[in-house]
Amino acid sequence: MTSAPNAAPAAPSLAQANPTWVNSFAQLGPDFYTELQPTPLPSPYWVGRSRALARELGLEDAWLESDAMLAVLSGNQTLPGSRPLASVYSGHQFGVWAGQLGDGRAILLGELETASGAQEIQLKGAGRTPYSRMGDGRAVLRSSIREFLCSEAMHGLGIPTTRALCVTGSDAPVRREEIETAAVVTRTAPSFVRFGHFEHFSYSGQHVQLKALADYVIDQFYPVCREAKQPYAALLQAVSERTALLMAAWQAVGFCHGVMNTDNMSILGLTMDYGPFQFLDAFDPGHICNHSDNQGRYAYNKQPNIAYWNLFCLGQALLPLIEEQDQALAALESYKTVFPDALQARMRAKLGLADVQAEDKELIDSIFRLLASNKVDYTIFWRRLCAFTPQSGHEPLRDLFFDRESFNAWALQYSERIAHVDIGLWTDLMLKNNPKFVLRNHLGEEAIQAAKLKDFSGVNTLLKLLQAPFEEHPGHDSFAGFPPDWAASIEISCSS
Ligand code: AMP
Ligand code: MG
Repeated sequence: MTSAPNAAPAAPSLAQANPTWVNSFAQLGPDFYTELQPTPLPSPYWVGRSRALARELGLEDAWLESDAMLAVLSGNQTLPGSRPLASVYSGHQFGVWAGQLGDGRAILLGELETASGAQEIQLKGAGRTPYSRMGDGRAVLRSSIREFLCSEAMHGLGIPTTRALCVTGSDAPVRREEIETAAVVTRTAPSFVRFGHFEHFSYSGQHVQLKALADYVIDQFYPVCREAKQPYAALLQAVSERTALLMAAWQAVGFCHGVMNTDNMSILGLTMDYGPFQFLDAFDPGHICNHSDNQGRYAYNKQPNIAYWNLFCLGQALLPLIEEQDQALAALESYKTVFPDALQARMRAKLGLADVQAEDKELIDSIFRLLASNKVDYTIFWRRLCAFTPQSGHEPLRDLFFDRESFNAWALQYSERIAHVDIGLWTDLMLKNNPKFVLRNHLGEEAIQAAKLKDFSGVNTLLKLLQAPFEEHPGHDSFAGFPPDWAASIEISCSS
């Protein structure tokens, strides 16, 4: 039988669709996880799909169209060759040792062989595990859409992150502050190993397993550390440096994570575990995005120091392998130079400055002070700055400030700094470093409200914009505007 011209590609059967699984984490052995199957969800449906990621993973387009994959990615069927498991870890939560945690609702299907190396595929919200404690093992539609969109948005912004392949939903009820419905996010990353995995084996005295884990991470992801005199100190230093780069990226784009517990810190320096995160609207250095964070431990301006605190915990966890405390402390030192240097580099790029001059630091510090004292919308300021010229009157920018004189003084200083730069190069650099679109809370909220009524067009539109956030996307300016007044009343906490 021949198919009609232009017919949609035939959906692959499970066997045809099955890529190659490597399951290297599973080879660490049963001390690291519990093998189990996801718990099925009734009548799943597609909510959002990242075809860009599917392509990167080498999956055929038909993969994300088929009912067979809908069943697999909702936890209702298992692909042959995958070994689903939930891993055990521990962690410090809000500065306090929380003991054993673990994948309470995430199930690792295994690692797929892809052109860019093996990628773990994880279903978040796929049911209870031995580490669920009091939780139900589920994730709700609202938080799953937020995680899906933000993962792909961060990638679009060039910020290291775990990725999200899709969200599937089900009408199965899930009890939170009110009754919501269940969803599963399919996440991918080279590894979902957290600082908390190391803390777990260190503080429970399982030092053989601690070493096996460190060796696994070095061999898979930090092979150059193996050549160092002290490979485990070298690992700590490498993780510190990647984390420093990540913090610089977050601060520069105005991203608040909200729950920087050590169990949410990636050993690969990726943004992970999207919960009550927020991109800043008005620039407020002390902004707290997590409604449950009463003390402001994870406020925007605290993030770089908290990352260092978390690295210190990782260093302590690695001490049984490093032996000399001084070596561990030395390994952490580079954070203190890598972070500020990386932040300056990111901010210079936002200002369009391709070279380094002594006065740049003051130019950057003074604009941060002005943005804060005038509560200027962070993303809009930087995007409007892309159209700045020393000759223009800078009205659209000046309008963002009530203290116009201070802005004028800064604009003069900036005009002098860019007087001799190549304007073409400068504009290009600005437009590549100042996104037009970020996932503001109210944008996510509007897409979520529509999705609850089974209209997923808002999720799709946001995905398209956020995957290419530096482009103009004519006709979509309303997604790049100021937040509405009601945005300030959105409350997002850990419960999701
Ligand atoms: P989080 O605050 O999302 O990073 O989660 C902290 C810990 O609680 C992790 O061990 C999660 O797996 C677990 N957890 C969070 N929500 C649930 C849930 N609904 N069911 C089971 N475990 C959960
Ligand atoms: Mg977590």
